[in-house]
Amino acid sequence: MVTILDATTPVAKRVRHPEKQNRPDTEVKRKPEWIRVKAPTSKGYQETRSIVKEHNLVTVCEEAGCPNIGECWDKKHATFMIMGEICTRACAFCNVITGKPNALDMNEPENVAKAVREMGLMHVVITSVDRDDLDDGGAEHFEKVIWAIRAASPETTIEILTPDFLRKPGALERVVAAKPDVFNHNLETVPGNYLTVRPGARYFHSLRLLQRVKELDPTMFTKSGIMVGLGEERNEVLQLMDDLRSADVDFMTIGQYLQPTRKHHEVMSYITPEEFRSYEKIAYTKGFLMVSSSPLTRSSHHAGDDFARLKANRDARMAAADTHN
Ligand code: SF4
Repeated sequence: MVTILDATTPVAKRVRHPEKQNRPDTEVKRKPEWIRVKAPTSKGYQETRSIVKEHNLVTVCEEAGCPNIGECWDKKHATFMIMGEICTRACAFCNVITGKPNALDMNEPENVAKAVREMGLMHVVITSVDRDDLDDGGAEHFEKVIWAIRAASPETTIEILTPDFLRKPGALERVVAAKPDVFNHNLETVPGNYLTVRPGARYFHSLRLLQRVKELDPTMFTKSGIMVGLGEERNEVLQLMDDLRSADVDFMTIGQYLQPTRKHHEVMSYITPEEFRSYEKIAYTKGFLMVSSSPLTRSSHHAGDDFARLKANRDARMAAADTHN
């Protein structure tokens, strides 16, 4: 089969993952009972949906088929995905459409800011597709979105979940200078899985990016997450925790990988809630300020409440350090 993909084809009609079309189907394992989620139907969910549509916004909640959408949208918490819905990478776990992206929407910063104000958000999470096609990887656009939100809702705290800006000199520095409150960049998986799970990325580049954020602005909270159930060994996860701590990362998230389609990476195992609790306990002993580890943990799940706890934990740690001096 030949797949023709061009920018004039409406997104809804496109093959979402042309690069995966010829892959053999993988086995889809039955989900354990602790993974089941309710269908999104509440009034709050419908209201969030209307605001998102009205401002022509894209959310990772929908694009990634997040299992928490019913719960998050009911509480008016959505993660906005900027710079379009087409990604230039083709990670084996991700459901976001792959292909040649459209031009940036110059009205997007204002539209995101309007939606944030209308929804009365205390904390907002902004993420994006990978834009390897842009000279700065989309750094300027991130900057504009942060500024627009600051102007429209000065009290709202801003968390960004960024791509790796691989081979985009100066991009990271530019985004950090815009002063988001939390800088999140996900490692996604252990280094041994990168070639099969995240082939366009480099583990040590991502780690270094997180470390560099802290060097540029030691007051900025840094955050990173992984998915488990991709065939990783427990010891590899513990090593990754040490790597994140060496990069001075404050907050770690660990969630179960769920397979979007038969063409995506197979779920190698379902990690039990007990194993998630054990990861959480160990991660705290390694010195993270915050850890969220559960089957349905996602980078942006409960991000607002977590931000308040993150700040409180840092204040408590600094107060304890002062007492000892
Ligand atoms: S966890 Fe994040 S991506 Fe999922 S629905 Fe909630 S805000 Fe959206």
